[in-house]
Parts: sequence; structure tokens; C-alpha cells
Amino acid sequence: MYLCDIHSHSQISPDCDVPLTDMVQAAVKAGLREFCVSDHHDLLDFGGLPAAPFDWPAAKEQYRAVKDAAGEKLTLRLGLELGSAPYDPQAAREALAQGGEELDFVLGSLHNWIGMEGNRDLYFSDFHRNMALARKVMESTLEHTWTLVSQMPDCYDSLAHIVYPLRYIHRDGVELSIEDYEEQVRAIFTEIARTDHALEVNVWAGRDLDSWPLLLGWFRECGGRLVTVGADAHCPEHVACGIPQALEMVKGAGFDHVATYEHRRPVLHKL
Ligand SMILES: [Zn+2]
Ligand SMILES: [Zn+2]
Repeated sequence: MYLCDIHSHSQISPDCDVPLTDMVQAAVKAGLREFCVSDHHDLLDFGGLPAAPFDWPAAKEQYRAVKDAAGEKLTLRLGLELGSAPYDPQAAREALAQGGEELDFVLGSLHNWIGMEGNRDLYFSDFHRNMALARKVMESTLEHTWTLVSQMPDCYDSLAHIVYPLRYIHRDGVELSIEDYEEQVRAIFTEIARTDHALEVNVWAGRDLDSWPLLLGWFRECGGRLVTVGADAHCPEHVACGIPQALEMVKGAGFDHVATYEHRRPVLHKL
């Protein structure tokens, strides 16, 4: 099994203060063969305001220094978790262009409301006893996800955590299932497959192992071929957490390989 975790954060992200060197040390300790730092660049910040440009100079400086130090211990890649790309396609494309040749991997994310609820991160919404708001956020997020995959395929390599709204819907005790949205999700998966992009199994540091068998089954039925795995760690203790289980689930769903990315092209590793 090729142990890889290609969704992880460092001090370049606004919600993480850990130097990349500490995350990589944890990755080596966990026995990872490949690790990708994918710091946040959300076009909308937590509060819903347009964000400042991504600090590529700092991200690249940190990446180069740690890559040199890591040497042969593991393969280190430079990624970006690009949030809310449909909010401002031009800004999204400019940010990716600045990543240049060194950019290996782009996760496409939607963390925010777009065009409603003050464009805030879903984290700040209160879904307690509010099924209407929960349904609204699922519909809105899936609609923007459809925009991303159908109109902006150059702005992502792997679709990150499609279940993101459910993190907070379930946190607030509302019972809603992705199964209620099967038609929309399958349409998204079919488009991801058609354009030869990847689906991410995001195990959220081991906190979400249950969502994926069903979704992987749908993705495979929709013609999906490329799957990436990520723990979405924001601290060293979470690096690789849940990754062995994720790889087992990918294999169990009938996929022969897990994908990692180099220069934004998939590299397949036998499971
Ligand atoms: Zn995310
Ligand atoms: Zn993340």
C-alpha cells in the first residue's frame, strides 16, 4: 500500500500555525511515502470578505527549504487548497498562474456561502433545528460545485471534501444525508470522471470515515478513475490520521490505484 496524504496545512494557512517542517516530521514518523502541503487560499475569508492574494513567496520559500531537508525520506509536493473559485474565476486563475511550474496539486474546495448568508464560512452558520438552512446550504454548495467542475476544470485537480456542509449540519444535530442529493452528486461525479479529474476521500483526521464507501461506489459507477486521499491535518498529530483506512476503502470500492499529483498531472500508485 502506497501511504500518501496529499491534503495538509501549515502556518501559511490562516487556521494553522505549525511550520511545515513539523508536519513533514510527523509524516515521516507516520511512514508516509508522499506528502503534499496544500495550504488554504480561499477567495472569501472566514467572514465572507474577498481575501488578500495568496502569499506564494512565503509558501515557496518554506516548501523549498523543507523539501531540501526532507531529502530522500519522503516525496514532498507543493499543493494549494483553492476555496470558492466560482466566486471569482479570474482571481482563481491568477492565483494558480502564480503557483507556476512548482505547483503540483490543486484541491477544489467550497467552504463559504456564495451570494448569500454574508458569504461566510459554513462553520459560522447555526443549523440547530434549522432543516431549511441545512437544505439551502447543501443545494447552494452542490450548485457551486457543479459550476467548478463543469465550467472551471482548470481550477482544480481533485474535488475536496464534497461532504463539507455536512460537517456542520451534523455538528448542530440536524439529520441530513448526502443520499438525498444523489442525483446532483452523480451529475458532479460524471463530470469529474469525464474530464479525468479526481475525487478526494477526505477523512478529516480520522473523524469522517463513514461518508466514503457510498460516495466511492457512486463515483466508480459514474466512470470515476482517479481518487486522492487526505487527512486535512492542521496539526502534526493529525497527519496521516485515517489514511490507511481511506486506502482500504478506495480499494474496497474497486479502484486499483490511488492518485497523487506532480506538476498537476496524476501519478497512479497500485493499491
Ligand atoms: Zn477544506
Ligand atoms: Zn484543508
